[in-house]
Amino acid sequence: MRCNQTSAFRQGAIGQAAAVAKLEEYRRKRDPEATPEPFGGSRSGDAPIFVIQRHDARRLHYDLRLERDGALASWAVPKGMPLEPGARSLAVHVEDHPIEYATFEGEIPAGQYGAGTVEIWDSGTYELVDAKRDGGLTFHLHGKRLEGLWTLVPAKLDGDPKNWLVIKKRDDPAEQTGGSLHRYKPMLATLAEGVPHGEGWLYELKWDGYRIVARLATGEAELRTRKDQNYTERFPGV
Ligand code: MN
Repeated sequence: MRCNQTSAFRQGAIGQAAAVAKLEEYRRKRDPEATPEPFGGSRSGDAPIFVIQRHDARRLHYDLRLERDGALASWAVPKGMPLEPGARSLAVHVEDHPIEYATFEGEIPAGQYGAGTVEIWDSGTYELVDAKRDGGLTFHLHGKRLEGLWTLVPAKLDGDPKNWLVIKKRDDPAEQTGGSLHRYKPMLATLAEGVPHGEGWLYELKWDGYRIVARLATGEAELRTRKDQNYTERFPGV
């Protein structure tokens, strides 16, 4: 199903009233006197917008927001957006945010809801490709870092309706799925009877440490060990 909803309804009086009602939970959680976060905004652009904010709160996460019916439908993605076709990430459905939030960056003071630093990680427009009756959305993002097709699925992980999944889809059906395409493993030492001799050879004792592959994608570096553990936070200097 192709879902086209750039209708007069969305921008009309009924749409505005619906948008106000949608933001009740957002307003209930925040005190406009105590947080620099925005509380309003409306848009009448052609293509709906999206934003992904890096939110360094109690726990670092990324907030994915899609413009829907006069507000920003929002999900907190703890591990960030999946990038390889077939890869998936938990996406926790949170309250709708006001349209103005799409340009918000700053510091939410300690003690306030979501206290911490908010930075825009990516933004742009998107095309809604499919909207399922259960709320599932397939969309094509046109951002500065991200370009391509993703699906949000209300997967109800652990029985919690807030626990959705965001899945990277193939942009082109000819692409391979599985995510194994770009999986490199660190080279391991090989047991040998002696060391090679001659010009061009050096050797050193084997020091203890970690064998790690560094991957750079969408402008972000990631360090992974041979057992595929993420050591990016452990070695920020690297
Ligand atoms: Mn957040």
